[in-house]
Amino acid sequence: MLKQNKISSGLLFVFAALSLLIGGTSNSGQGPLISAVEAVPNEILIKFNPAIGAALVRQELGSLQASIINYHGGEIAAGAWTGSNENERSFLGDPNLFHVRVPESIGVERALSLIRSRPWVEYAEMNFKVHLDVIPADTYFSSLWGLNNGGAQGGTIDADIDGPEAWEINTGSSVVIVAILDTGIDYTHVDLDANIWMNSSESDAYKADGIDNDGNGYIDDWVGWDFNRGYAPPYHEDNDPMDDYDDPTVPGGSENYHGTHVAGIVGAEGNNGTGVTGVCWNVKLMALKICDWRGLSEAADAIHAIDYAIAAGANIINASWHLPYSDALLSAINRARTSGIIFVAAAGNSYKNTDIYPQYPSCYDLDNIISVLSTDYNDQLSPLFSNYGPYSVDLGAPGGTDPYQESYNIFSTKRGNDYQYHAGTSMAAPYVSGMAALLWSQRPGLSWWENKTILLKSVDSLGSLLGKAQSHGRLNAYKALTYQTPVLPAAPSDLDAQVYPAEFGYDIELTWLDNSNNESGFIIYRKSGNVFWEIDRTAPNETSYWDRELPAGYWYYYVRSYRQDGESTKTLVAAAKAFGSSSSH
Ligand code: CA
Ligand code: CA
Ligand code: CA
Ligand code: CA
Repeated sequence: MLKQNKISSGLLFVFAALSLLIGGTSNSGQGPLISAVEAVPNEILIKFNPAIGAALVRQELGSLQASIINYHGGEIAAGAWTGSNENERSFLGDPNLFHVRVPESIGVERALSLIRSRPWVEYAEMNFKVHLDVIPADTYFSSLWGLNNGGAQGGTIDADIDGPEAWEINTGSSVVIVAILDTGIDYTHVDLDANIWMNSSESDAYKADGIDNDGNGYIDDWVGWDFNRGYAPPYHEDNDPMDDYDDPTVPGGSENYHGTHVAGIVGAEGNNGTGVTGVCWNVKLMALKICDWRGLSEAADAIHAIDYAIAAGANIINASWHLPYSDALLSAINRARTSGIIFVAAAGNSYKNTDIYPQYPSCYDLDNIISVLSTDYNDQLSPLFSNYGPYSVDLGAPGGTDPYQESYNIFSTKRGNDYQYHAGTSMAAPYVSGMAALLWSQRPGLSWWENKTILLKSVDSLGSLLGKAQSHGRLNAYKALTYQTPVLPAAPSDLDAQVYPAEFGYDIELTWLDNSNNESGFIIYRKSGNVFWEIDRTAPNETSYWDRELPAGYWYYYVRSYRQDGESTKTLVAAAKAFGSSSSH
């Protein structure tokens, strides 16, 4: 169901069994360390077991000579940390996740190897840097072929998402909130200002009173928040999420304004006689600035913004960026899933198969993530940049044709009542975010999973995307709005895997609870390489499955129920350890 706006509730979530969910997908554990340039120097994120007490936290972090960075960027010496005050917390969404600074003399790699060896540490990782998935393009031409392609600039007629046809049916609703985690938004832009989310509890007389009127941990956050700490002046961490991505180290300035461009694709005001048109003409765009004026951010800032979006009642989060594998970010997106939020992620611009070379967050194995590749004006995979993946990418959306031919790319809003072109999966993702918003405007009763299922089943199938994305297709707004709401079976639960020595190798018995009364059966998935593939289907009402004669190793499974209309969400991942001669799991 579409959630009501809830400003101050929902800050605290308990998430159970997450270790199962992330089991086997992590490459952060004891694997090779990622280049230090990918992370913020001298900072780590540590997740302690919830049972750890304050004294043990002080002792463990004291042994690293660490200080604790609170969610506003202030620092507390380990010995002074009490654990009794919300202002001491690193993350509002998870009291057991710590953002820590260690001295140069210890260093990140040594600190990680020391802390990971402690029994009450669930995981520890670097504070990875976030990179935007845009290829900047500068020159000014008027074209919105992604919404409606008449064959201009050499493109193919109808290589578009059928915007005008969809807007005959619905043009959006101001109760749907899309959080844009990006470089900020020019919230004064004439083509955006009517669609900017504002915090009613901090508006008007309350927006400059220096008081946290709604008690959400952020003072005077009337139009979103700037979560970026910045590594050099000017420092941020304030209530102004204005898009300032204009890097002066680029000759003439970059004038990139990535977040403003993304926001316009989702929801520039439609039919207002000016400028461009978003996919969803009426919507609320929540400006959650995580990147600085160079487009740089870090995992910790993104996690703060996700928790803010959850607490503020966002329905959709747009993430047109990537970073190395982070357990802490995975946990935050899982909190968003628990709150029914669809998380739309750019598939990335490295022209690679992300089933084999994963990037995050698009490749996390969470059902509420939609990973989006970029198509060009001929309905081909954008040939110069777009990532793809038959398992890890869900669908395509327009993202540009050639970064060096500006008018072939995606036209949207630019700071200062202006407009410009950009190319990248950064541009493709917000088409899908806007479409999820448009669908929820039309049908507020859809669950997040029904919404996602419709988006994936209503695509225009393209030969060019066979083997490139799960749906083999490109977003189609008209087909989505006219797609019948699917009747989906309830998901199975309590998946367990037991290992038995067999004549050749091992037999693994999976068992689960059948929670559905209308399924055609269950689909068994097993992990191979980085991704899970369907290995078999069962009859209805089955609650077990034997996977026989497997070689020794670690095996991972999940199960979905299915029927003609579609599939359920998946169970948590069950891990099976097939070694030695005794039964174990
Ligand atoms: Ca506030
Ligand atoms: Ca206030
Ligand atoms: Ca407009
Ligand atoms: Ca059943």
